Amino acid sequence: MTAELPAEKPAIVPLFGLRPAPSAAGPRDQRPGISGLAPGELQAWMQVNGHPAFRARQVLDAAWRGKQTTFAEIHTLPPVIREALDEAFRLDTMAETEVLVTDGGLTEKALHRLSDGLLIESVLMHYPARDATETRAANRERHTLCISSQAGCAVGCPFCATGELGMERDLETAEILDQVRNASRRLVAQGKHLTNIVFMGMGEPLLNLDRVLASIEALNDMARFGLGARHITVSTSGVVPGIRRLTALGPQFTLAVSLHAARNPLRDVLVPLNRRWPVEDVVAAAREHAATTGRRVTYEFTMIDGINDTDADADALAVLLRGDLAHVNLIPMNQVAHTPWTGTPIAVVERFAERVRAAGIAVTIRFNRGTEIGAACGQLAAEHAGQPTPIVVQRRRERIVAESAAALRGERSSEPVPAGTGEGSA
Ligand code: SAH
Ligand code: SF4
Repeated sequence: MTAELPAEKPAIVPLFGLRPAPSAAGPRDQRPGISGLAPGELQAWMQVNGHPAFRARQVLDAAWRGKQTTFAEIHTLPPVIREALDEAFRLDTMAETEVLVTDGGLTEKALHRLSDGLLIESVLMHYPARDATETRAANRERHTLCISSQAGCAVGCPFCATGELGMERDLETAEILDQVRNASRRLVAQGKHLTNIVFMGMGEPLLNLDRVLASIEALNDMARFGLGARHITVSTSGVVPGIRRLTALGPQFTLAVSLHAARNPLRDVLVPLNRRWPVEDVVAAAREHAATTGRRVTYEFTMIDGINDTDADADALAVLLRGDLAHVNLIPMNQVAHTPWTGTPIAVVERFAERVRAAGIAVTIRFNRGTEIGAACGQLAAEHAGQPTPIVVQRRRERIVAESAAALRGERSSEPVPAGTGEGSA
């Protein structure tokens, strides 16, 4: 594909006028979000509370097809049910949402405030049809939403704004789904609809897998969101037990694996989870996933100037993936505040791509804009969580430089596996 120029970094405007640092998080609203409930659960609640079961259908219609964000606005329900629902549930778990439109209207970044004050992001990307007279599927207009699965992330990849935030908490199923409902309402108001969803926002989806799977079930369900599995992609930094669990479940969606390095010493630094599940185990699990489901695995490779973009890295990648049902996406790194690194220049990306292609592996060059990669996810929330002091940034940069220099000499990291990354089968 012809590489497009990366979009200019959008100006950050004050959103909500808030800067909720992690410690500013307040108590959580304990009422479950309605979108996280399976239809049977809502019917059972209606029956237990003495209301006819068909009322559940009306609530679900409002939740998945209506514009309402509070029960009081669902006028098809009698007031007594609206009040009872409001006591037990929330119709929308996004307490507040502000949308920042960039890229001449092609990208909408939404910053959502949750009930406890934490901020998460979703990014809606519009892809106009390339040729209005062409009707083939590949040419159709697309609207892709990149969603978050956790507030923060425990994996701590040093080039990632979310990793730098650290882990706050897992999102509830409804908090995952309400990002989708929020974007969908905005699209429907313009006579459009969501065509693709990617779990490439904040967080590691395979470390919140039960809720991610419950949300995908709701997204697939014709009675709820009704989006085909082919249109959903889940990206992981390499949680091997999680990948195996997905393989056992069968073809539910496209799996993307964030590789970023084919050699263990460097991947230990770039994706610290590699210290628990090394790259060959990750690729073996992904290979088995492709073989069992028949679905091609996508590998993401964020390219960092002078760090993971050498000929030796390209050759190691080619050896690692040779003969696999795989596709590699090369993405020059977006600059983030706390790293000393910059994205690889396009000429070097192209050279790298050619070397990997020469080994018979499909490669696409992508940028943050013009792709399905929500690579900037986390950056907005990180900026609003408050910047670290210059001395903290300086120390982080020094640590990253020292660790990556040791990795480039081929030394394995002696740093511990990041805390909070569990066994990954949760
Ligand atoms: N935690 C999951 C999914 C969210 S991250 C994962 O890591 O796969 C989604 C993608 O954005 C990942 O491939 C990640 O490596 C990439 N990414 C994060 N920060 C980036 C940056 N500064 N520049 C480019 N890509 C980035
Ligand atoms: Fe977490 Fe993915 Fe960011 Fe790594 S790249 S810190 S796994 S969100």
